Amino acid sequence: MKKTIKDFDIENKRVIIRCDFNVPLKDGVITDDTRIVKSLQTINYALKHKAKIILMSHLGRIKKEEDKIKNNLNVVATRLSHLLNKKVTFINETRGKELEQAIFNMNDGDIILMQNTRYEDLDGKKESNCDMELAKYWASLGDIFINDAFGTLHRAHASNVGISTYLPSGIGLLIEQELNALSYLFDPERPFTIILGGAKVSDKIGLIENLLPKCDKILIGGGMAFTFLKAEGYNIGNSLLDEEGLEFCKIILKDYPNKIILPVDIMCHNEYKDEKGVAKDITDLNDDDIGLDIGPKTINIFKNNLIKTKSVLWNGPLGVYEFKNYVEGTNSILKYLTTLDGKTVLGGGDIVAAATACKVTDKIYHISTGGGATLEYLEGKELPGLNNIKEK
Ligand code: AMP
Repeated sequence: MKKTIKDFDIENKRVIIRCDFNVPLKDGVITDDTRIVKSLQTINYALKHKAKIILMSHLGRIKKEEDKIKNNLNVVATRLSHLLNKKVTFINETRGKELEQAIFNMNDGDIILMQNTRYEDLDGKKESNCDMELAKYWASLGDIFINDAFGTLHRAHASNVGISTYLPSGIGLLIEQELNALSYLFDPERPFTIILGGAKVSDKIGLIENLLPKCDKILIGGGMAFTFLKAEGYNIGNSLLDEEGLEFCKIILKDYPNKIILPVDIMCHNEYKDEKGVAKDITDLNDDDIGLDIGPKTINIFKNNLIKTKSVLWNGPLGVYEFKNYVEGTNSILKYLTTLDGKTVLGGGDIVAAATACKVTDKIYHISTGGGATLEYLEGKELPGLNNIKEK
């Protein structure tokens, strides 16, 4: 296990915490503050142990000067201050005299949030390309570095891999929780069922290859089911097809004929829009049918396969859940899982948004906050953001 913030004596120390405050914004207003809320446990731990807390994060992408305005981290400082019920001093620069002076003047328990680390990307992508001079400068501002930005662990940036090259480093409590919950899936209690949906098979080949041998059943819905159904020889009409993933589907259907469960009926419409569709057996699709959700027979088959399961990993919605007419498959399986004994892990991205909208998040064992990082970890890849952090 990697060293965590709890393995350091942080009292009176300047502790740099790399958070993931990459929150969705609309017209400058935070629309979902989950990521800020998730970072509170580490910040509160540092507060309780009287550290001087220097927070950093990226927000959005900065490719041109105008991008700076809409990705100003100031809004996060305000929200964070509200959530902590404590002053958070926002420093509107990523380096310079103002930042250095503010850190020099900190008392124990003070909190500073510096400006979006990706402001440094305007000048030669210094943050995203892990410029080591920038990393060294940032490291010079602190005594200890804590990485709690799970969502960027699969990237080598100056504000994670870079700083941890120069300072004694550990992971924060959010990353610790994420790694514990996700690594549970490498040796889970059986039966272990994977539910996969979402758009493209080719995005998830690594995940399927790594976990398929370890699971007992894999239930496939969403857009990606149609590439499997096409590989089985069905007419999928105008439904989503991922040509690139077709060959892979043929191979794994042959290698694991008893593990893969595909939809037997589909909610169809002849246009991609939020209008009531009709349920059709998979043998009955016309050339102009578009499959937008799994049908009622499939929902029952999926439920029957889940009854006795002890562990579930779910990535990707089972239909176009953004349309109220096609959210039924995803929501009924989400709700069903909350009635079972097993542990369910929701692996990043759209399925988390679907679970939030369905109001079941408090009944789920673990909800992973990272999109790409979650997938890469589950694919068995090394996460660069952890490389410089020593084992306990
Ligand atoms: P992913 O990022 O691969 O998990 O894909 C999530 C997206 O898949 C969501 O935006 C869904 O709308 C989309 N999706 C799910 N089911 C379907 C479907 N049957 N046809 C087209 N898109 C779908």
